[in-house]
Amino acid sequence: MIPGPIEFTPDVLRAMGMPTTSHVAPNFIEIFGQALEDLRNVFLAPSGQPFVVPGSGTLAMDMAAANLVEPRDHALVVNTGYFSDRFAKILERYGAIVTHVHARTVGDAPPLGEVESALQSIKPKLMTITHVDTSTAVATNVRELAALGRKHEALVIVDGVCATAGEEMRQDEWGIDLALTASQKALGVPPGLALVVAGPRAMETFKKRKKPVGNFYADWTEWLPIMHAYEGRKPSYFATPAVNLMWALYVSLKGILAEGMEVRFARHKKLSDAFKAAMGALTLKQVPIRPENYATTLSGLYYPEGVDKGVLKYIDEAGVIVAGGLHPAIREQYFRVGHMGAVTGNDVIATVAAIESGLARVGYKFEKGSGIVAAQRGLA
Ligand code: PMP
Repeated sequence: MIPGPIEFTPDVLRAMGMPTTSHVAPNFIEIFGQALEDLRNVFLAPSGQPFVVPGSGTLAMDMAAANLVEPRDHALVVNTGYFSDRFAKILERYGAIVTHVHARTVGDAPPLGEVESALQSIKPKLMTITHVDTSTAVATNVRELAALGRKHEALVIVDGVCATAGEEMRQDEWGIDLALTASQKALGVPPGLALVVAGPRAMETFKKRKKPVGNFYADWTEWLPIMHAYEGRKPSYFATPAVNLMWALYVSLKGILAEGMEVRFARHKKLSDAFKAAMGALTLKQVPIRPENYATTLSGLYYPEGVDKGVLKYIDEAGVIVAGGLHPAIREQYFRVGHMGAVTGNDVIATVAAIESGLARVGYKFEKGSGIVAAQRGLA
């Protein structure tokens, strides 16, 4: 129950173990093409151009920046923490002049009014938003931020690495110009794929570039014909695709779409609410300050009075792995629990039980079973 790599379903893992074919085998071309088509439905981006390349989420961020930024472009980073800082560094690497709008405190999101003032004064070419900050479990209001970005004619880029296919995100409807993610989180595929869906305005910006893309591997000039070829069910080659990961992606996307995006968003919300209610019953405080910023894919929880990270060992011994703190300002004060992908109510119950067991073993006083009762009520 960590925020990625998550638990993968047996059918996805079986795809990873299949005999590896050539990247131009007819059946591979077919499933690559289908995976690209399915991605549009998962990102809710009928007008989007998907790119899937071997790499991690950081490569997806790199691809967005490399193809859209030209030296001295202004960029606005809606900064919620660790991975927003990373996006800024990547943008700067390609010559962007970056302005940050920070949250006032850890666990908060930057105020929309401040984002709008920055958009007004800087008039950036693009803005980046981290949908769910994996270090704090803060979800930003992507819908409203994207609307602001569009109003001020900035390209809207969303890092959905800890969100996409779990957290509600409607790329076309919300006016997101580029959404990106990595395979190992709510998409439910082992680590190794970088995924980007670029909308028409992003593709237009790329086509109008004055300077060549300053990154060979991430260059859409190379990848766009490859994606077109696979969708057209034709063989092609630029760099060898991760064949088995693509099979795993194909299988996972079919599962996601069989569940349906609306049901999937609602399931993540329900499991998250039930888990958070259980933690509340155990008197554990959420890292996100405002309920409207609670992520549905992940929870960040402060240790209660008198408890520290020593409890993680006992939670682990009870059979559930959760993650320690990541945000440098509060690293030792909290832990993180991922609940995304193929998680079920039973997983939530097992996790709450393991946390209760851990808390009991470190001598924390609480009403035993109260977390379980709250979780069951939430799941009912
Ligand atoms: N953005 C966010 C929000 C993330 O959580 C992560 C990884 N945890 C990344 C970007 C980077 O992804 P990767 O580790 O796959 O390079």
